[in-house]
Amino acid sequence: MKKEFICIVCPNSCRITAEYNEQQIKHIEGAQCKKGEEFIKNEIKNPLRTFVGSVKCRNGDYQLVSVKTNKPIPKKYIKQVAQKTHELVVEAPVEIGQVIISDVLGQHADLVATRKVRKKVL
Ligand code: SF4
Repeated sequence: MKKEFICIVCPNSCRITAEYNEQQIKHIEGAQCKKGEEFIKNEIKNPLRTFVGSVKCRNGDYQLVSVKTNKPIPKKYIKQVAQKTHELVVEAPVEIGQVIISDVLGQHADLVATRKVRKKVL
């Protein structure tokens, strides 16, 4: 099988072609660096992504808190993490870096806040 990928490791967005089958990667062409080659190998074997989203916040000066996983997780779990964030409501105050879900879906990554939300003053 031959497939073209766009490397998302850096803003160069190199177009990289890989030839592979279920047993091995035969050829990688177009990567301008080793990081790009590693990215393609992972894309073929076990693609990873950092989840970025938001969760509802109760009694805060914002109604939403932005969140992300503190490291990439297998791409196949991204939709399940999104579903969890839709169901979740956190209580203000929230600090940047605060763990919202520890070891999300058992993937050894935490879902952490990327925005500070103060408690609403009434
Ligand atoms: S192959 Fe290297 S230079 Fe090209 S986008 Fe990927 S990381 Fe950037």
